[in-house]
Amino acid sequence: MVKYDTVLIRYGELSTKGKNRKDFIRKLDQNIRHILKDYPELKYQRTHDRIYIRLTDEDPEDISSRLQKIFGISSFSFTRKVPSDLALIQNECLNIARETDKKTFKVITRRHDKTFPLNSDGINRAVAGEILRNTGLKVDVHNPELEIRIEVHAGDTYITSEKIPGAGGYPTGINGKVLLMLSGGIDSPVAAYELMKRGLDVEAVHFASPPYTSENARQKVLDLAQMTSVYNQGRMRVHIVNFTDLQLEIYKTAGDPYAVTLMRRMMYRLAEKIAQSKGCLAIATGESIGQVASQTLESIACINAVIRMPVIRPLVCMDKNEIIDLARKIGTYETSILPYEDCCTIFDPKNPVTKPTIEKAEGFEKKFDYDKLIADCIENMTTVTVHPAEAEDFL
Ligand code: ATP
Ligand code: MG
Repeated sequence: MVKYDTVLIRYGELSTKGKNRKDFIRKLDQNIRHILKDYPELKYQRTHDRIYIRLTDEDPEDISSRLQKIFGISSFSFTRKVPSDLALIQNECLNIARETDKKTFKVITRRHDKTFPLNSDGINRAVAGEILRNTGLKVDVHNPELEIRIEVHAGDTYITSEKIPGAGGYPTGINGKVLLMLSGGIDSPVAAYELMKRGLDVEAVHFASPPYTSENARQKVLDLAQMTSVYNQGRMRVHIVNFTDLQLEIYKTAGDPYAVTLMRRMMYRLAEKIAQSKGCLAIATGESIGQVASQTLESIACINAVIRMPVIRPLVCMDKNEIIDLARKIGTYETSILPYEDCCTIFDPKNPVTKPTIEKAEGFEKKFDYDKLIADCIENMTTVTVHPAEAEDFL
Protein backbone atom coordinates (compact mmCIF):
# COMPACT_ATOMS: atom_id res chain seq x y z
CA MET A 1 0.00 0.00 0.00
CA VAL A 2 1.27 3.45 -0.89
CA LYS A 3 1.27 5.34 2.38
CA TYR A 4 0.28 8.94 1.91
CA ASP A 5 2.24 11.15 4.25
CA THR A 6 1.30 14.72 3.35
CA VAL A 7 -1.98 16.51 2.71
CA LEU A 8 -1.60 19.13 0.02
CA ILE A 9 -4.21 21.89 0.20
CA ARG A 10 -5.03 24.17 -2.74
CA TYR A 11 -6.83 27.49 -2.44
CA GLY A 12 -8.76 28.62 -5.45
CA GLU A 13 -10.38 32.04 -5.19
CA LEU A 14 -7.74 33.23 -2.78
CA SER A 15 -5.06 33.19 -5.41
CA THR A 16 -6.78 36.07 -7.15
CA LYS A 17 -6.98 38.36 -4.14
CA GLY A 18 -3.74 40.30 -4.70
CA LYS A 19 -2.55 42.23 -1.69
CA ASN A 20 -5.02 40.65 0.72
CA ARG A 21 -3.67 37.27 -0.08
CA LYS A 22 -1.35 37.03 2.91
CA ASP A 23 -4.22 37.66 5.32
CA PHE A 24 -6.40 35.14 3.51
CA ILE A 25 -3.79 32.43 3.75
CA ARG A 26 -3.05 33.21 7.39
CA LYS A 27 -6.76 32.98 8.23
CA LEU A 28 -7.19 29.78 6.25
CA ASP A 29 -4.19 28.27 8.01
CA GLN A 30 -5.65 29.29 11.37
CA ASN A 31 -9.07 27.79 10.54
CA ILE A 32 -7.50 24.54 9.37
CA ARG A 33 -5.41 24.24 12.53
CA HIS A 34 -8.50 24.93 14.57
CA ILE A 35 -10.62 22.21 12.99
CA LEU A 36 -7.73 19.73 13.34
CA LYS A 37 -6.80 20.75 16.87
CA ASP A 38 -7.45 17.23 18.19
CA TYR A 39 -4.36 16.16 16.23
CA PRO A 40 -1.45 17.94 17.93
CA GLU A 41 1.13 15.81 16.10
CA LEU A 42 0.38 17.34 12.71
CA LYS A 43 3.05 19.59 11.20
CA TYR A 44 2.03 22.47 8.95
CA GLN A 45 3.86 24.30 6.23
CA ARG A 46 2.48 27.30 4.38
CA THR A 47 3.59 28.69 1.01
CA HIS A 48 2.06 31.33 -1.26
CA ASP A 49 -0.22 28.84 -3.01
CA ARG A 50 -0.33 25.71 -0.88
CA ILE A 51 -0.64 24.51 2.68
CA TYR A 52 0.97 21.18 3.50
CA ILE A 53 0.11 19.03 6.46
CA ARG A 54 2.58 16.35 7.39
CA LEU A 55 0.75 13.26 8.66
CA THR A 56 2.00 10.64 11.06
CA ASP A 57 -0.63 7.97 11.79
CA GLU A 58 -3.88 9.90 11.68
CA ASP A 59 -7.14 8.58 10.26
CA PRO A 60 -7.30 10.00 6.71
CA GLU A 61 -11.11 9.67 6.59
CA ASP A 62 -11.51 11.91 9.59
CA ILE A 63 -8.95 14.45 8.40
CA SER A 64 -10.67 14.52 5.02
CA SER A 65 -14.15 15.01 6.42
CA ARG A 66 -12.94 17.89 8.61
CA LEU A 67 -11.10 19.61 5.78
CA GLN A 68 -14.21 19.45 3.61
CA LYS A 69 -15.85 21.79 6.11
CA ILE A 70 -13.26 24.54 5.75
CA PHE A 71 -14.17 27.39 3.45
CA GLY A 72 -11.37 28.75 1.28
CA ILE A 73 -10.06 25.34 0.23
CA SER A 74 -10.64 24.64 -3.46
CA SER A 75 -9.33 21.07 -3.31
CA PHE A 76 -6.91 18.88 -1.42
CA SER A 77 -5.05 15.63 -1.91
CA PHE A 78 -3.42 12.99 0.21
CA THR A 79 0.03 12.80 -1.30
CA ARG A 80 3.31 10.99 -1.03
CA LYS A 81 6.27 13.34 -0.60
CA VAL A 82 9.58 12.42 -2.18
CA PRO A 83 12.76 14.43 -2.84
CA SER A 84 12.60 16.15 -6.25
CA ASP A 85 14.58 13.57 -8.16
CA LEU A 86 13.30 11.99 -11.37
CA ALA A 87 14.13 8.38 -10.47
CA LEU A 88 12.40 8.69 -7.08
CA ILE A 89 9.38 10.35 -8.67
CA GLN A 90 9.14 7.61 -11.31
CA ASN A 91 9.42 4.94 -8.67
CA GLU A 92 6.68 6.39 -6.48
CA CYS A 93 4.31 6.83 -9.44
CA LEU A 94 4.98 3.26 -10.45
CA ASN A 95 3.99 2.12 -6.95
CA ILE A 96 0.64 3.86 -7.36
CA ALA A 97 0.16 2.37 -10.84
CA ARG A 98 0.99 -1.13 -9.60
CA GLU A 99 -1.62 -0.95 -6.87
CA THR A 100 -4.54 0.15 -9.00
CA ASP A 101 -7.12 -2.06 -10.67
CA LYS A 102 -7.77 0.69 -13.21
CA LYS A 103 -6.88 0.16 -16.87
CA THR A 104 -6.00 3.60 -18.23
CA PHE A 105 -4.02 6.50 -16.85
CA LYS A 106 -2.66 9.95 -17.46
CA VAL A 107 0.18 11.80 -15.73
CA ILE A 108 -0.44 15.47 -14.88
CA THR A 109 2.62 17.39 -13.73
CA ARG A 110 2.93 20.91 -12.37
CA ARG A 111 6.49 22.08 -12.21
CA HIS A 112 6.67 24.90 -9.67
CA ASP A 113 10.46 24.70 -9.54
CA LYS A 114 11.59 25.92 -12.92
CA THR A 115 15.16 24.79 -12.27
CA PHE A 116 14.14 21.13 -12.35
CA PRO A 117 15.97 19.60 -15.37
CA LEU A 118 12.82 18.39 -17.20
CA ASN A 119 9.79 20.54 -17.97
CA SER A 120 6.26 19.35 -17.10
CA ASP A 121 5.79 17.58 -20.37
CA GLY A 122 9.18 15.90 -20.06
CA ILE A 123 8.27 14.64 -16.59
CA ASN A 124 4.88 13.38 -17.86
CA ARG A 125 6.63 11.39 -20.58
CA ALA A 126 9.36 10.01 -18.35
CA VAL A 127 6.86 8.83 -15.73
CA ALA A 128 4.32 7.49 -18.23
CA GLY A 129 7.13 5.57 -19.99
CA GLU A 130 8.13 3.93 -16.73
CA ILE A 131 4.53 2.88 -16.03
CA LEU A 132 3.98 1.59 -19.58
CA ARG A 133 7.16 -0.51 -19.40
CA ASN A 134 6.29 -2.07 -16.06
CA THR A 135 2.50 -2.49 -15.90
CA GLY A 136 -0.39 -3.38 -18.20
CA LEU A 137 -1.89 0.12 -17.94
CA LYS A 138 -2.53 2.16 -21.09
CA VAL A 139 -2.40 5.92 -21.53
CA ASP A 140 -5.68 7.74 -22.13
CA VAL A 141 -5.22 11.50 -22.15
CA HIS A 142 -8.89 12.37 -22.61
CA ASN A 143 -10.74 10.11 -20.22
CA PRO A 144 -8.27 8.34 -17.94
CA GLU A 145 -9.52 6.13 -15.12
CA LEU A 146 -6.46 6.99 -13.05
CA GLU A 147 -4.91 10.46 -12.85
CA ILE A 148 -1.46 10.62 -11.33
CA ARG A 149 -0.69 14.16 -10.25
CA ILE A 150 2.83 15.32 -9.64
CA GLU A 151 3.77 18.69 -8.14
CA VAL A 152 7.45 19.43 -8.35
CA HIS A 153 8.78 22.03 -5.93
CA ALA A 154 12.35 22.97 -5.08
CA GLY A 155 13.39 20.21 -2.71
CA ASP A 156 10.24 18.12 -2.56
CA THR A 157 7.73 16.62 -4.96
CA TYR A 158 4.17 15.61 -4.06
CA ILE A 159 2.49 12.70 -5.79
CA THR A 160 -1.16 11.73 -5.63
CA SER A 161 -3.88 9.93 -7.52
CA GLU A 162 -6.86 11.78 -6.10
CA LYS A 163 -8.14 15.30 -5.81
CA ILE A 164 -10.86 15.89 -3.22
CA PRO A 165 -13.09 18.93 -3.81
CA GLY A 166 -13.03 21.49 -0.99
CA ALA A 167 -15.95 23.62 0.20
CA GLY A 168 -14.82 26.65 -1.84
CA GLY A 169 -15.58 30.21 -0.74
CA TYR A 170 -13.44 32.36 1.56
CA PRO A 171 -11.94 31.52 4.94
CA THR A 172 -14.58 32.23 7.55
CA GLY A 173 -13.99 35.51 9.33
CA ILE A 174 -11.92 37.19 6.64
CA ASN A 175 -14.74 39.44 5.38
CA GLY A 176 -16.08 40.84 8.65
CA LYS A 177 -19.00 40.06 10.91
CA VAL A 178 -22.77 39.95 10.37
CA LEU A 179 -25.71 39.47 12.71
CA LEU A 180 -28.01 36.73 11.47
CA MET A 181 -31.62 36.52 12.59
CA LEU A 182 -31.77 32.84 13.52
CA SER A 183 -35.11 31.09 13.90
CA GLY A 184 -35.77 27.41 14.43
CA GLY A 185 -36.85 26.99 10.80
CA ILE A 186 -35.16 25.42 7.81
CA ASP A 187 -33.99 28.60 6.17
CA SER A 188 -31.90 30.62 8.58
CA PRO A 189 -29.35 27.86 9.39
CA VAL A 190 -28.81 27.45 5.65
CA ALA A 191 -28.36 31.22 5.41
CA ALA A 192 -25.73 30.93 8.16
CA TYR A 193 -23.82 28.40 6.09
CA GLU A 194 -23.93 30.57 2.97
CA LEU A 195 -22.73 33.64 4.89
CA MET A 196 -19.85 31.72 6.42
CA LYS A 197 -18.94 30.46 2.98
CA ARG A 198 -18.48 34.07 1.89
CA GLY A 199 -15.91 34.50 4.65
CA LEU A 200 -18.28 36.20 7.08
CA ASP A 201 -18.16 35.64 10.81
CA VAL A 202 -21.74 35.01 11.93
CA GLU A 203 -23.24 36.06 15.23
CA ALA A 204 -26.94 35.25 15.76
CA VAL A 205 -29.97 36.84 17.34
CA HIS A 206 -33.04 34.82 18.23
CA PHE A 207 -36.39 36.24 19.28
CA ALA A 208 -38.21 34.04 21.76
CA SER A 209 -41.63 34.57 23.32
CA PRO A 210 -41.80 32.59 26.53
CA PRO A 211 -44.06 31.18 27.88
CA TYR A 212 -45.75 30.96 24.45
CA THR A 213 -42.59 29.46 23.03
CA SER A 214 -41.12 26.54 24.96
CA GLU A 215 -37.70 25.72 26.35
CA ASN A 216 -37.55 23.03 23.63
CA ALA A 217 -37.92 25.68 20.95
CA ARG A 218 -35.07 27.68 22.47
CA GLN A 219 -32.88 24.60 22.73
CA LYS A 220 -33.61 23.75 19.10
CA VAL A 221 -32.25 27.11 18.00
CA LEU A 222 -29.12 26.59 20.09
CA ASP A 223 -28.71 23.12 18.58
CA LEU A 224 -28.94 24.59 15.08
CA ALA A 225 -26.39 27.24 16.03
CA GLN A 226 -24.12 24.53 17.37
CA MET A 227 -24.38 22.54 14.14
CA THR A 228 -23.48 25.51 11.98
CA SER A 229 -20.72 26.67 14.36
CA VAL A 230 -18.50 23.95 12.85
CA TYR A 231 -18.17 26.24 9.85
CA ASN A 232 -17.69 29.37 11.96
CA GLN A 233 -14.26 28.73 13.49
CA GLY A 234 -15.87 26.39 15.97
CA ARG A 235 -18.07 28.83 17.87
CA MET A 236 -21.16 30.96 17.51
CA ARG A 237 -22.61 33.60 19.79
CA VAL A 238 -26.38 33.60 20.03
CA HIS A 239 -28.17 36.59 21.54
CA ILE A 240 -31.59 35.64 22.82
CA VAL A 241 -34.18 38.39 23.02
CA ASN A 242 -37.32 38.00 25.08
CA PHE A 243 -39.87 39.31 22.64
CA THR A 244 -43.11 38.52 24.52
CA ASP A 245 -44.13 41.95 25.82
CA LEU A 246 -43.42 43.64 22.52
CA GLN A 247 -45.31 41.00 20.63
CA LEU A 248 -48.36 41.14 22.91
CA GLU A 249 -48.45 44.90 22.54
CA ILE A 250 -48.28 44.62 18.75
CA TYR A 251 -51.22 42.26 18.62
CA LYS A 252 -53.25 44.46 20.94
CA THR A 253 -52.55 47.54 18.82
CA ALA A 254 -52.49 46.29 15.23
CA GLY A 255 -54.79 43.28 15.17
CA ASP A 256 -54.58 40.50 12.66
CA PRO A 257 -53.52 41.65 9.15
CA TYR A 258 -50.64 43.96 10.15
CA ALA A 259 -49.37 42.03 13.16
CA VAL A 260 -46.66 40.11 11.30
CA THR A 261 -45.54 43.19 9.40
CA LEU A 262 -45.16 45.11 12.64
CA MET A 263 -43.50 42.22 14.40
CA ARG A 264 -40.91 41.98 11.68
CA ARG A 265 -40.31 45.72 11.67
CA MET A 266 -39.58 45.42 15.40
CA MET A 267 -37.25 42.47 14.79
CA TYR A 268 -35.33 44.51 12.24
CA ARG A 269 -35.08 47.50 14.59
CA LEU A 270 -33.79 45.28 17.36
CA ALA A 271 -31.38 43.45 15.07
CA GLU A 272 -29.89 46.71 13.82
CA LYS A 273 -29.31 48.00 17.36
CA ILE A 274 -27.73 44.73 18.47
CA ALA A 275 -25.60 44.55 15.31
CA GLN A 276 -24.29 48.07 15.93
CA SER A 277 -23.38 47.26 19.51
CA LYS A 278 -21.58 44.04 18.50
CA GLY A 279 -19.52 45.46 15.65
CA CYS A 280 -21.53 43.79 12.86
CA LEU A 281 -21.68 45.78 9.62
CA ALA A 282 -24.82 44.11 8.28
CA ILE A 283 -27.73 41.98 9.36
CA ALA A 284 -28.82 38.81 7.58
CA THR A 285 -31.97 36.72 7.31
CA GLY A 286 -33.17 33.49 5.72
CA GLU A 287 -35.86 35.30 3.75
CA SER A 288 -36.73 34.19 0.24
CA ILE A 289 -38.94 36.18 -2.12
CA GLY A 290 -42.57 35.08 -2.10
CA GLN A 291 -42.15 32.29 0.44
CA VAL A 292 -44.73 33.65 2.88
CA ALA A 293 -46.89 36.82 3.22
CA SER A 294 -44.11 38.68 5.00
CA GLN A 295 -41.68 37.94 2.17
CA THR A 296 -43.48 39.47 -0.79
CA LEU A 297 -41.51 42.32 -2.31
CA GLU A 298 -44.04 44.78 -0.83
CA SER A 299 -43.58 43.27 2.63
CA ILE A 300 -39.83 43.25 2.41
CA ALA A 301 -39.85 46.89 1.31
CA CYS A 302 -42.16 47.89 4.18
CA ILE A 303 -40.15 45.95 6.77
CA ASN A 304 -36.71 46.95 5.51
CA ALA A 305 -37.67 50.64 5.60
CA VAL A 306 -37.18 50.87 9.37
CA ILE A 307 -33.40 50.44 9.27
CA ARG A 308 -30.42 51.74 7.33
CA MET A 309 -28.01 48.89 7.81
CA PRO A 310 -27.56 46.56 4.82
CA VAL A 311 -29.57 43.34 5.01
CA ILE A 312 -28.02 40.27 3.40
CA ARG A 313 -30.45 37.58 2.28
CA PRO A 314 -28.41 34.68 0.93
CA LEU A 315 -31.51 32.60 0.06
CA VAL A 316 -33.50 35.39 -1.54
CA CYS A 317 -33.84 33.74 -4.96
CA MET A 318 -33.69 30.10 -3.98
CA ASP A 319 -36.55 27.60 -4.22
CA LYS A 320 -37.61 25.89 -1.03
CA ASN A 321 -36.44 22.57 -2.49
CA GLU A 322 -32.97 23.92 -3.09
CA ILE A 323 -32.87 25.24 0.47
CA ILE A 324 -34.00 21.87 1.83
CA ASP A 325 -31.27 20.09 -0.15
CA LEU A 326 -28.68 22.36 1.40
CA ALA A 327 -30.17 21.90 4.87
CA ARG A 328 -29.79 18.15 4.45
CA LYS A 329 -26.24 18.57 3.22
CA ILE A 330 -25.14 20.59 6.23
CA GLY A 331 -27.11 18.34 8.58
CA THR A 332 -29.61 20.84 10.03
CA TYR A 333 -32.77 19.64 8.28
CA GLU A 334 -33.88 16.99 10.77
CA THR A 335 -33.57 19.40 13.68
CA SER A 336 -35.28 22.24 11.80
CA ILE A 337 -38.41 20.21 11.17
CA LEU A 338 -38.95 19.33 14.85
CA PRO A 339 -42.41 20.71 15.62
CA TYR A 340 -41.77 23.33 18.32
CA GLU A 341 -43.64 26.59 18.32
CA ASP A 342 -41.69 29.59 17.19
CA CYS A 343 -42.56 33.18 17.96
CA CYS A 344 -43.99 33.77 14.47
CA THR A 345 -46.30 30.76 14.49
CA ILE A 346 -47.62 31.27 18.00
CA PHE A 347 -49.89 34.18 17.13
CA ASP A 348 -50.23 33.03 13.56
CA PRO A 349 -52.72 35.47 12.02
CA LYS A 350 -55.44 34.26 9.70
CA ASN A 351 -55.15 36.99 7.08
CA PRO A 352 -51.67 38.49 7.02
CA VAL A 353 -51.40 41.45 4.67
CA THR A 354 -49.34 40.68 1.56
CA LYS A 355 -49.06 44.27 0.33
CA PRO A 356 -48.49 46.34 3.46
CA THR A 357 -47.77 50.05 3.21
CA ILE A 358 -45.30 52.02 5.27
CA GLU A 359 -47.97 54.63 6.06
CA LYS A 360 -50.33 52.09 7.60
CA ALA A 361 -47.55 50.39 9.52
CA GLU A 362 -46.43 53.76 10.92
CA GLY A 363 -50.05 54.57 11.78
CA PHE A 364 -50.22 51.51 14.07
CA GLU A 365 -46.79 52.15 15.52
CA LYS A 366 -47.77 55.67 16.63
CA LYS A 367 -50.26 54.11 19.02
CA PHE A 368 -47.73 52.64 21.43
CA ASP A 369 -44.32 53.34 22.89
CA TYR A 370 -42.30 50.71 21.11
CA ASP A 371 -38.99 52.49 21.76
CA LYS A 372 -39.34 51.72 25.44
CA LEU A 373 -40.24 48.08 24.76
CA ILE A 374 -37.26 47.73 22.41
CA ALA A 375 -34.95 49.20 25.04
CA ASP A 376 -36.30 46.68 27.58
CA CYS A 377 -35.72 43.81 25.15
CA ILE A 378 -32.10 44.84 24.72
CA GLU A 379 -31.56 45.30 28.41
CA ASN A 380 -32.84 41.80 29.15
CA MET A 381 -31.07 40.09 26.28
CA THR A 382 -28.97 37.05 27.18
CA THR A 383 -26.04 35.65 25.23
CA VAL A 384 -24.95 32.04 24.83
CA THR A 385 -21.81 30.88 23.03
CA VAL A 386 -22.09 27.45 21.44
CA HIS A 387 -19.37 25.16 20.10
CA PRO A 388 -19.52 22.08 17.89
CA ALA A 389 -20.29 18.83 19.64
CA GLU A 390 -17.55 16.27 20.18
CA ALA A 391 -15.18 14.93 17.55
CA GLU A 392 -17.37 12.13 16.18
CA ASP A 393 -19.85 14.73 14.94
CA PHE A 394 -17.40 15.72 12.25
CA LEU A 395 -17.93 12.43 10.48
P1 ATP B 1 -39.06 28.40 7.53
O1 ATP B 1 -37.98 27.45 7.21
O2 ATP B 1 -40.24 27.75 8.16
O3 ATP B 1 -39.37 29.35 6.46
P2 ATP B 1 -37.93 30.59 8.72
O4 ATP B 1 -37.04 30.59 9.86
O5 ATP B 1 -37.39 31.01 7.42
O6 ATP B 1 -38.49 29.20 8.71
P3 ATP B 1 -39.82 32.73 8.33
O7 ATP B 1 -41.06 33.06 9.03
O8 ATP B 1 -39.83 32.46 6.88
O9 ATP B 1 -39.21 31.48 9.07
O10 ATP B 1 -38.81 33.91 8.71
C1 ATP B 1 -37.97 34.54 7.77
C2 ATP B 1 -36.67 34.93 8.42
O11 ATP B 1 -36.86 35.79 9.54
C3 ATP B 1 -35.92 33.75 8.99
O12 ATP B 1 -35.16 33.09 8.01
C4 ATP B 1 -35.07 34.39 10.04
O13 ATP B 1 -33.92 34.99 9.45
C5 ATP B 1 -35.98 35.49 10.58
N1 ATP B 1 -36.73 35.02 11.76
C6 ATP B 1 -37.98 34.53 11.79
N2 ATP B 1 -38.34 34.20 13.04
C7 ATP B 1 -37.29 34.52 13.83
C8 ATP B 1 -37.04 34.42 15.24
N3 ATP B 1 -37.93 33.93 16.09
N4 ATP B 1 -35.84 34.83 15.69
C9 ATP B 1 -34.91 35.32 14.84
N5 ATP B 1 -35.10 35.41 13.53
C10 ATP B 1 -36.28 35.03 13.02
MG1 MG C 1 -38.57 31.12 5.57
